[in-house]
Amino acid sequence: MQAVHYVSETLPLKSIGKKLYQYKSNFVGLVVVVKRLTLCIRRLIMNITKNKVAAIHYTLRDSNGTVLDSSQGRDPLYYLHGANNLIPGMEEGLEGRTKGEHLQLDVAPEKGYGKRDPALVEEVPLKAFGGQNIEVGMQFEANDGQVITVTKVGSDSVTVDANHPLADQNLYFDVEVLDVRDATADELAHGHVHGPGGHH
Ligand SMILES: [Zn+2]
Repeated sequence: MQAVHYVSETLPLKSIGKKLYQYKSNFVGLVVVVKRLTLCIRRLIMNITKNKVAAIHYTLRDSNGTVLDSSQGRDPLYYLHGANNLIPGMEEGLEGRTKGEHLQLDVAPEKGYGKRDPALVEEVPLKAFGGQNIEVGMQFEANDGQVITVTKVGSDSVTVDANHPLADQNLYFDVEVLDVRDATADELAHGHVHGPGGHH
């Protein structure tokens, strides 16, 4: 067994007082620096809120994991937040997010492209297509801008569906926020984004 030697050390009291004071003033200085930095970072990190423009990359998959759409390999999608430019489920999921964030959004039909409405399926005479060769899967734009899809071709009639192709579907998005900025006055007046990825 080793003998335990008790070592006592006497420090001059004045020196301890000085050291404590120095430590305290350094600490206060540090707090001030941290507070200022936090303020700067808050100003730099902009959150996605109403009237901000965000740039995102997204990949959309269905419930089987099949990719339905993706912005990867293309320009990112720029949009004006809070102006109903995206489906509600996307806007809700992106609210408050910042540049650099990756998120996964599961969007139910109610927050996506809606429930299927059987009333939007119609049978129209083949003649209405003016002799064009009509095939299942063809899409046409109606006079009101709505996209209709051919779902059945008969000998003298065609069945068309005006439901959104993604109606009734659960949608799975992988999203990356690339940038967030203030919208310009013009963008706010028009309700959409200008510049890269936008109109005009
Ligand atoms: Zn515009």
